[in-house]
Amino acid sequence: MPVPLQDLVRHIDQLLDVARFRDYCPNGLQVEGRARVHRLVSGVTACQALLEAAVEQRADAILVHHGYFWRGEAEPVVGMKRRRLATLLEHDISLLAYHLPLDAHPELGNNARLGALLGMIDVQRLDPGDATAVGNIGHLSAPRKVVDVLGDIAQLTGRTPLHVGNPEQSVRRIAWCTGAAQSYIGQAVTAGADLYLTGEASEPTVHIAREEGIHFVAAGHHATERYGVQALGEHLAAEFGLEHRFIDIDNPV
Ligand SMILES: [Zn+2]
Repeated sequence: MPVPLQDLVRHIDQLLDVARFRDYCPNGLQVEGRARVHRLVSGVTACQALLEAAVEQRADAILVHHGYFWRGEAEPVVGMKRRRLATLLEHDISLLAYHLPLDAHPELGNNARLGALLGMIDVQRLDPGDATAVGNIGHLSAPRKVVDVLGDIAQLTGRTPLHVGNPEQSVRRIAWCTGAAQSYIGQAVTAGADLYLTGEASEPTVHIAREEGIHFVAAGHHATERYGVQALGEHLAAEFGLEHRFIDIDNPV
């Protein structure tokens, strides 16, 4: 059964507690399409390839983690931005985007899902003082060799992660934050993590890892952020009887 677009948006906004977050982009309905939604396509980023796949699927709405209208981006609707918006508007497809609220949600969020898929237990917020902070810390059920943890990550993400440290060492206490959260490595050190996992790496991250004696793993920004939007799409499909399909547009970063 189709659901009114406004009901769908209101449900997600409440579920993810969107009003609580100060973000770099608007969260929620970013581009309005047709008034009722039955076919939902989800993906990590609202790139042109995802839009075209959604058109092909005859989607009513697209749900993403990385939408549009980022703080500091050029505002004129020209070039790539014109083509993307034209594709949505021509086909009357809505764009729903949830950034930090989807990273942070304790069950459906990117961090919660990645932690669950890697078998983390005793999961807590990496920064317990800030209820909107993203990133988690937890334990493996028993100490494991880093090389084995890397194998699990590679199996899950379908790519070989970048690792700094001795892979023969064992780890148990693990901190993680999906996406481009390499700058949180200091928080992971302070929290006493043996290993810090995120999506991307910067040049200084390697030196911090070596000198602080913490294992660092960059497993891919896209690769670590596939799971929240899929979980949210599946939740919405069950809640509203929607057809939902996650479409993965490969991204090596
Ligand atoms: Zn991201």
